[in-house]
Amino acid sequence: MIETYLDRKKSEMIDLLELLVNTDSGSYDKEGVDIVGTILKENFENTGMHVKVHREKKLGNHLEVKAPGSDPKILIIAHMDTVFPKGEAKERPFKVIGDKAFGPGVNDEKASHVQVLYALKALKESGSEAYKNIHVIFNSDEEVGSPTSKPLIKHAAEDKQYSLVVECARPNGGVVTERKGVGNFLLTVKGKSAHAGVEPERGRSAIEEISHKILKLQKLNNYEEGLSVNVGLVSGGTSSNTVPPNAVAEIDVRMKDEEQAGELTKEMTKIAQGEYVLGTTTELRGSISRPPMEKTEQTKQLVKVIQEAGDELGMSIHELSSGGGSDAAFTAVEDIPTVDGMGPMGEFSHSETDEYTDLETFPQHTALLAKTIEKLSK
Ligand SMILES: [Zn+2]
Repeated sequence: MIETYLDRKKSEMIDLLELLVNTDSGSYDKEGVDIVGTILKENFENTGMHVKVHREKKLGNHLEVKAPGSDPKILIIAHMDTVFPKGEAKERPFKVIGDKAFGPGVNDEKASHVQVLYALKALKESGSEAYKNIHVIFNSDEEVGSPTSKPLIKHAAEDKQYSLVVECARPNGGVVTERKGVGNFLLTVKGKSAHAGVEPERGRSAIEEISHKILKLQKLNNYEEGLSVNVGLVSGGTSSNTVPPNAVAEIDVRMKDEEQAGELTKEMTKIAQGEYVLGTTTELRGSISRPPMEKTEQTKQLVKVIQEAGDELGMSIHELSSGGGSDAAFTAVEDIPTVDGMGPMGEFSHSETDEYTDLETFPQHTALLAKTIEKLSK
């Protein structure tokens, strides 16, 4: 019933996807994100759901969707923002080539919006009450680290038994049960400027100081253990004939568990505190913005349920881990069994040329979400 309903609705689903993809919604484009929110709000209200809008001043508004008077136990998290600037959709609008749909944010994560809506419709249509067991958050700021939606997600997770995050599924039915934690740090060094020819000895080179520290930071890398430290952006100095009074390095760190996160923060602080060029000062700012998502016994149970749902649909679902962070970390760290990659199948998120969602398996992955919700509600 669920499958036949979704197969019948495929072209309707693609129409809605086209509308969403052709609406720009970069994280800092509040107007655009709010238009996407309004489209979703109308669609969910039309299916009888209650939609609460959480207004934000600078970033887009967030939506919370529930059946009226319900006490849901499953949290579903989807984000409305994309990494693409305003005007992108006009330049390269939604298009379909063969079984693939292209366009800005098509895979990350607009196909997932349509998926969640139609999974819910399919449940309702097939007479299942399980749709009352879901609480959906559409947030507006995932691509910039979820600064304003994090408290909302944490609060919604408090009384939940499961969390399903609808970032895209990987080819061949891969869902994500482990994700690395992500942190961003800024290392700022202050030295003293001096004329490089006249009296260089009076200067204190901030670039020399930061160079020592960058080398030490890079040495923290341990790829085999799943730990990475990337000094990805460096700037400093004022001119080639001046001893540089300032230098800044931006650092991205990834780790697989809490222990590594704590250890890494300690090591970085130690490096920052060292002094190689006497008279310079260094400040390290930043934090682990997304904790690592670790696989627990409960997660394994949840994966089993998803696999059972997959079996009924002729899909073989397997688990994998990802180096990228997502909102899944916020519920996993609260000990809520969390699986990510529950969205439609697609690849190459954030790519201007390659990002696609697979239309052939779009109804199937939607059915997988619906059946998983049904099984978890029994
Ligand atoms: Zn995403």
